[in-house]
Amino acid sequence: MLQDDGYKGVWVHIQHEEGQLTKPTLEILTAGRKVAEKLNHSLTAVVLGHEVEFLGRKTIEYGADEVIYCDDPKLENYLCLPYTTVLTNLVRERKPYAFLFLADEIGRDLAPRLAYRLKTGLATDNIELEIEDFYHVPTKTVYKNLLIQIRPDFATRVAKIYTPWHRPQIATVRPGNFGPAELDETRRGTFTVVKTNLNQEDFTVMLKDLRHIPTSPVQLDRAQAVVSIGLGILRDGRGNPRSSLEGFRLAQELAQAIQEKFGLKTEIGASRALIYAELKELHGLVTLDRQVGQTGKTVSPEIYFALGISGAVQHRVGMLRSKKIVAVNIDPGAPIFQIAHYPIIGDLYEEVPRLTELIRRF
Ligand SMILES: Cc1cc2nc3c(=O)[nH]c(=O)nc-3n(C[C@H](O)[C@H](O)[C@H](O)COP(=O)(O)OP(=O)(O)OC[C@H]3O[C@@H](n4cnc5c(N)ncnc54)[C@H](O)[C@@H]3O)c2cc1C
Repeated sequence: MLQDDGYKGVWVHIQHEEGQLTKPTLEILTAGRKVAEKLNHSLTAVVLGHEVEFLGRKTIEYGADEVIYCDDPKLENYLCLPYTTVLTNLVRERKPYAFLFLADEIGRDLAPRLAYRLKTGLATDNIELEIEDFYHVPTKTVYKNLLIQIRPDFATRVAKIYTPWHRPQIATVRPGNFGPAELDETRRGTFTVVKTNLNQEDFTVMLKDLRHIPTSPVQLDRAQAVVSIGLGILRDGRGNPRSSLEGFRLAQELAQAIQEKFGLKTEIGASRALIYAELKELHGLVTLDRQVGQTGKTVSPEIYFALGISGAVQHRVGMLRSKKIVAVNIDPGAPIFQIAHYPIIGDLYEEVPRLTELIRRF
């Protein structure tokens, strides 16, 4: 059944922490702005919380046309059920065409529950969003201006998800794929305060205590240069086994040279295959928080080095927004070369020391 009659507007769910819009929230405003402009709809920022009206107003300066603000002391900290109830009521009443969430701990919790209550579609972990017409062959019907959700699938491809029948279309967007929205203090928009109707059954889970998990010292998402290693470090170009520690040290020396010579904050990254190999020698060095890709971090540094990494789609979606990509691989057919600006076909045990030396002498 087609359900988009009367559904209009693009909504984004706004996250905030300690009185500030979070950095990924500025990205989702960019994503929302892009979709809204292509559809010629307005962009609405949906803000839930307590005494954060000023943040709602700020989203207008970051690109929202309208703000829906729900203030309630019970919404001060995120809880899935009350947030779902508030959003379900809002959507039923106001009928947005699309509703975007961040693909993070909160968005991944909230968006599916909302989609389920509304009996509508959800596409998760999108890296890109487009608007296109869609021709449905069995019914010979053209659906105009659909939100096309683009995400890596579970195999080797990037999937495009078309959802012609249900509204609103709900999508989560991976942080790191859209740049932060720009601040324009001259922008004006409308601001609507909405009452919440929360029930006792929305509080079957109560928040007793809030503790901050210490943040990892590895800051891949902030790095200006990333040197990543993959399973290719386990053998040299002639197929002889090499110590993974030796491979790691080569990457570390290259990272050091970049940092010292160009002053770029540089981090070591890794493919999931290398991390999951759980090599004893790399214990404590190549840790989970260094994983780049679909199930790891998304990075967008000035320069990304892929050393002995094949470039599976799940890895590529985490680094393809890097400004420049250098790939070192013995296999000329490796998929990483499809996106590398500087392909180096060769043995990383020969090429990486050469690169490091070149940078040192630069
Ligand atoms: C649901 C799902 C989620 C996933 N999420 C992620 C993710 O977040 N991140 C991720 O990275 N992967 C992820 N993967 C795994 C992904 O599909 C690949 O298996 C993985 O990225 C491969 O890692 P790799 O490139 O290190 O290893 P390989 O694919 O084995 O590639 C090693 C490469 O090294 C080259 N090589 C070998 N020796 C040398 C040498 N001496 N010098 C230079 N090159 C050499 C080879 O030619 C080869 O191309 C995911 C998979 C699934 C199914």
